[in-house]
Amino acid sequence: MSLFFLAPDAVRGDTVTITGPLVRHIGGALRSHVGDQLTVVDGDGERYLVELTAVDPLAIHAVIRRRLGPEPASAVHLTLALAVLKTPNMDVVLQKATELGVDRFVPLITQRTVVRLKHEREPRQLARWRAIALEAAQQSERGRVPRVDAPTRFPDYLAESRHADGTRILLWEDESTMGLHDCLSAGDPPRGATLLVGPEGGFDADEIRAARAAGIVTVSLGDAILRAETAAPTALAILQYAWGGLGRRSGQRAT
Ligand code: SAM
Repeated sequence: MSLFFLAPDAVRGDTVTITGPLVRHIGGALRSHVGDQLTVVDGDGERYLVELTAVDPLAIHAVIRRRLGPEPASAVHLTLALAVLKTPNMDVVLQKATELGVDRFVPLITQRTVVRLKHEREPRQLARWRAIALEAAQQSERGRVPRVDAPTRFPDYLAESRHADGTRILLWEDESTMGLHDCLSAGDPPRGATLLVGPEGGFDADEIRAARAAGIVTVSLGDAILRAETAAPTALAILQYAWGGLGRRSGQRAT
C-alpha cells in the first residue's frame, strides 16, 4: 500500500480531502475507488489510515480509520553530501538513498564535477530533485520526505559543516588504511552521520586534504572502484544495516 503526502490543510477532524495532482494519480493511475484504504501523511508528519468515501475528478474524500502517529525517528539522522552527478545517475542516487532512509541531501559542486548547473536553471533542477525524493518517499512508504538542499561548493560545505554534530565519513577510493567497516565497529550508533561521495572523476587531492583537516574521516569501500551511483547506495545500505533497521524485522532496531 503506497503512502501519500497531503497538502497542509487536507485533514479536518476525521475527514480528509485530497486535491491537486494526487487526485489524478490516486483516482486515475491507481484506479482507486470508494472503500479502498490508503496511508496518508499530513504536513506535520502525522500518518493516517484512511478509507475513500468519494472519488471525483477534482477531489477525493476519505474518512480516517486509524491514526498511526509520526514515523518513528530513525536511529541515526543521515545526510548524504553527494557531488552532483550527470543525469540520470543523480536521479538514481536520490531515489535509492531516499528508499534507504537518508534524511538530508547536500548536492556538492567539487573540482571535478562535470555537470555545470547554470544559475538560472538551478531552481528548476532543485525542484526536480525534490520531486524525485518525494516520489521515492511515497513509493517506499517513508513517512518523511528527505530535505534536498541547494547545490553547495565543496569548500563552503566544509566551512558550514565544521561544527556539525555527528560522524562525517568521506568515501575515497585511494584510502589505504581505513575501511568503512572499521568506522562501524566502534561502539553505539552516532545520533547523526554524513556520508560524502565524490563525482565521476573522484575528489582531488586538495579536497581530500581539506576534508581531513576539517576532521572528516576518509574510508575505503574495498578494492573495486565503484561508480559514484553505486558507491553511495552501497555505503548507505552498510550504514543502515549497522546502525538502522535494514535487514531486521519491521520495527526492530540495531543492537
Ligand atoms: N577517481 C576514480 C576515477 O578517476 O575514475 C573513481 C571515482 S569513483 C567512480 C566516484 C566516487 O565513488 C569516488 O569519489 C568515491 O567517493 C566513491 N568510490 C568508488 N569506489 C570506491 C572505493 N572502492 N572506496 C571508497 N570510495 C569509492
